[in-house]
Amino acid sequence: MAEEIRRTASPEDARDRINELTAIVSRHNALYYEHDAPEIPDGEYDLLVNELRDLEEQFPEFAETTSPGKTVGGAPSATFAPVQHAIPMTSLDNAMDVDELRAWGDRVQKSLDGESVRFVCELKIDGLAMSIRYVDGEMVTAATRGDGRVGEDVTANVKTIAVIPQRLADAPPVIEVRGEVYMPREVFDALNADAERTGDRALVNPRNAAAGSLRQKDSAVTARRKLAFWAYQIGDRQGGPQHSTHEEALAYIGDLGFPVNPEVRVLASFSEVIEFCEAAIERRHDLGYDVDGVVIKVDDLAQREQLGFTSRAPRWAIAFKFPPEERTTTLLDIRVSVGRTGRTTPYAVLEPVFVDGSTVSMATLHNEDQVRIKDVRPGDTVIVRKAGDVIPEVVGPVLSERPDGAVPWSFPQHCECPLGSEFVRLDGEADTRCVEPKCPFQRDQKIMYWASRGAMDIEGLGERTVVQLTERDLVGDVAGLYQLSADDVEGLEGFARPSAEKLIAAIDDSRRQLAWRVLTGFGIKHLGPTVAQSLISEYGSVRAVFAASEDELSSVDGIGEVIAQSISRWWDNTVNRDLVDRLEAGGVALDIVEGPPGDGEAFEQTLEGRAVVITGTVPGYNREEAGAAVVARGGSSPGSVSKKTFALVVGDGAGASKLAKAETLGVPIVSAAEFEEFLESGQLPSTSH
Ligand code: NAD
Repeated sequence: MAEEIRRTASPEDARDRINELTAIVSRHNALYYEHDAPEIPDGEYDLLVNELRDLEEQFPEFAETTSPGKTVGGAPSATFAPVQHAIPMTSLDNAMDVDELRAWGDRVQKSLDGESVRFVCELKIDGLAMSIRYVDGEMVTAATRGDGRVGEDVTANVKTIAVIPQRLADAPPVIEVRGEVYMPREVFDALNADAERTGDRALVNPRNAAAGSLRQKDSAVTARRKLAFWAYQIGDRQGGPQHSTHEEALAYIGDLGFPVNPEVRVLASFSEVIEFCEAAIERRHDLGYDVDGVVIKVDDLAQREQLGFTSRAPRWAIAFKFPPEERTTTLLDIRVSVGRTGRTTPYAVLEPVFVDGSTVSMATLHNEDQVRIKDVRPGDTVIVRKAGDVIPEVVGPVLSERPDGAVPWSFPQHCECPLGSEFVRLDGEADTRCVEPKCPFQRDQKIMYWASRGAMDIEGLGERTVVQLTERDLVGDVAGLYQLSADDVEGLEGFARPSAEKLIAAIDDSRRQLAWRVLTGFGIKHLGPTVAQSLISEYGSVRAVFAASEDELSSVDGIGEVIAQSISRWWDNTVNRDLVDRLEAGGVALDIVEGPPGDGEAFEQTLEGRAVVITGTVPGYNREEAGAAVVARGGSSPGSVSKKTFALVVGDGAGASKLAKAETLGVPIVSAAEFEEFLESGQLPSTSH
């Protein structure tokens, strides 16, 4: 991608893209570092930052010193007292593959005029950096990295971490020890098992869980999270022994009583460094804690002095990042799920396999044509990986292992639901649909969509619960939720009295949800959260939106005829009018316009891990807003089309080059008119293939 930018970017484009990337990366930094709630996978984030750095290198005239390409971490939160670091806490530069790692090794050698260099390889622990300062052997402050210069004072919380000594025997007058606070896998799994039992939201991953647990106001919460620590460096110090190598320093902090990771190797040749990295990839899941790479450091401290730092990272160290994992497993079956609009999606049922930190037993196959193109057949051994780190995907079959008699899969003609409704694929469409209005699968999906984060955000109302409620006829549609009592819920699988009461309380809270969320929750075609917010800010209530004519609706900024028509069609249906009446009778407010600050930002992550390139102007958005809308749904919005691009959105005045490239690479096209629906569903329009 970098090469491509080098050839094509004009200074104006570069400046615009730098501004755009600065805004996007800053937002993700805040989500990740300040709120411990990332919205995109790390791999996608790294691509954005690399693109920004690349452009800033070529066009230094547009690179601000405060750019997120040059700085470290995020702003420290006002919840904690600031701590000025005696020595800045930097980040690390990345090598995304062995070639980049070798290039770094060569640079180091060259800068040191060919002196012999010993490298220390350590596992890159996926937690958060901590600086712990001891004066006369007493822990006085523990601080997060923050923006590298100023961190957050989390001393009370760090004191609850059992493996970190609060007092050091035989310590120098001042010593600052740095290392990584992390959550062991076992603790993470146990907390998530508890969350599942109580209906609480699951923790996303051990890193965010560690960061969230540490940045608590109440240290009793931190204590319950059973965090751990590996020390890997001395920061500031006054007095005590002087060391000439990193290896000696590590041994010293071990002697002081800190846990030092045993997987450290000092290696004299770069080929051994590469071997260490390759072996670490293989063993990454056998460790009991998450690692996302290997950190390679120059061992000799005098050589480190010579190499120095860039604005954000030492030149004497590099992080080798692990590549996404691919695994093989057996494809047991191909089945079809039905979405709330009747759109079907074939998916692979897999022999469970552990990929990149979690067990995968299902993966999407997108649509009928994709199954045919990949030619995966039940019984095949298939290659599975996580697209963009999170979504499991079947890459293709291992043909040499295809069993005799494996037959190509064909799309079923009927739905598996009790009504056995017919599936229909219209000419020219990529999707097959279930057209039965009473389809119980669609009904369940509609209820789940209503409860989802992007709509009414009802905690604890996931698929398993919805299916139990509808199968027992306790709920027939979303209005039925507001007639439920704790007595009805108690005794369902996973629900004792307290969790039943908790679910009813969550449903009750949703009675006072914002009107745009209610409007979104109906799942009207083309009406996603962005459109719902525009409509509610124009009309003030759900009923007022429905009372508006098609012409009136389409005169609202960003609302075209297609959306207006879809809304009025929905409202023309008496079943839907009745639903709105019953919701209102059930106490659901239809006119709440303002919520607590920050509300309204949580969109359903329909584009999680997807790279969506936008060219031209999409009506209702400026360039930055269109990109931000993708990012808000978990995607990324790079500036150029590549093999990894999920879709190219083509707006007004789009340049021909991106379109031509997308066509050459077979990247699906989304028109401006389809953008809203694409954002909402995350599905490619059927015309795009
Ligand atoms: P980094 O995590 O890539 O590397 C620096 C950090 O590595 C250090 O601060 C330290 O905490 C850690 N580390 C672990 N083991 C170490 C060891 N043995 N020796 C030295 N350091 C060790 O860099 P970063 O600036 O902290 O953050 C960038 C990372 O965060 C990237 O992986 C990026 O993808 C992710 N990130 C993701 C998002 C998102 O939205 N998904 C946003 C911001 C950052």
